Amino acid sequence: VARVTIEEARALCRASPVVDAHCDTLLKLGDGPGRGLGVARDDTHIDLPRLEGAGVAAQFFACYVETEPGARRALGRALQLIEAFHREVADSRGRLMAVTGVAGVWDAFHRGKVAGLLTLEGGAALQGYLSALKAFYRLGVRGVTLTWNFRNELADGVLETRTGGGLTRFGVEVVEEMGRLGMLVDVSHLSEAGFWQVLELARGPVVATHSNARAVCDHPRNLSDEQIKALAAKGGVMGLNAAPGFVRKTSGFSDSDARNEGATLGDLLDHAEHVIGLAGVDCLGLGLDFDGISSTPDGLEDVSRLPNLVLGLLERGHGPKTVTSLLGGNFLRVMKEVGMD
Ligand SMILES: [Zn+2]
Repeated sequence: VARVTIEEARALCRASPVVDAHCDTLLKLGDGPGRGLGVARDDTHIDLPRLEGAGVAAQFFACYVETEPGARRALGRALQLIEAFHREVADSRGRLMAVTGVAGVWDAFHRGKVAGLLTLEGGAALQGYLSALKAFYRLGVRGVTLTWNFRNELADGVLETRTGGGLTRFGVEVVEEMGRLGMLVDVSHLSEAGFWQVLELARGPVVATHSNARAVCDHPRNLSDEQIKALAAKGGVMGLNAAPGFVRKTSGFSDSDARNEGATLGDLLDHAEHVIGLAGVDCLGLGLDFDGISSTPDGLEDVSRLPNLVLGLLERGHGPKTVTSLLGGNFLRVMKEVGMD
């Protein structure tokens, strides 16, 4: 074990922009004092004080839309969450900046602010309208996770196991339009058939914002070695996910596994090392899924523990260059490549 300190890890988190590509914190925000992002809270994994303390320069905020029967209409729900994000930006008095690309992230980084970026988790929010995608873009949305776990108008999700279909005609149109607009096409949660079609179709790199390696933890939400190699070959990035069920094999299945059954930060680092050995570090990033998961690995209890992850990488002998590309450099590269200047 290399001799490094948590202070060195903290310094690395501040040396270059840290980017986390997925959280569901918008779903945890309510109205009224103390219910927003601005003050320290104990019922979430993320708030502004902890993002600032951990040195996170850019946080992607997902607008997750329920697709189960009885769920609120997806388009309206996404608009509610987008409005909640912009309200948080306004309430933060400059601490949280709404940004849409790399220049905004660097600006926030240099000014010691947190850049917030909007994504949709589930193309169901489009309700079948390409015009909705364009309108969401104008509202600042720069990424779309094409599906959640089940079927929507774009494609089958990864748990749609009895059909396992790929993209629909509308799904193809959405991926093509996202390429024209300059948005991140996110294949986390997507069926395998859909994954390979998107890789074929996308003009630029593709991301899996919050998925781990299936070879380390055999879960359908994680990516196979073949998927990881293909994603990397197109210049894409996958974000490490802290959901215990995706980190270490347990009985849990969904994104929101109720309990952590023994997953540790070390287990998550095993995923990182597997991917580095398989495809190189350039395809690795962070998409820790905070506030979309109800439990966390030991040692990575919330975003304030991010320096622990860095310390673990340093202890395993990875150098600062590897660490900073994983912490954010790779996602920034992809953002630029898809046109998110
Ligand atoms: Zn998710």
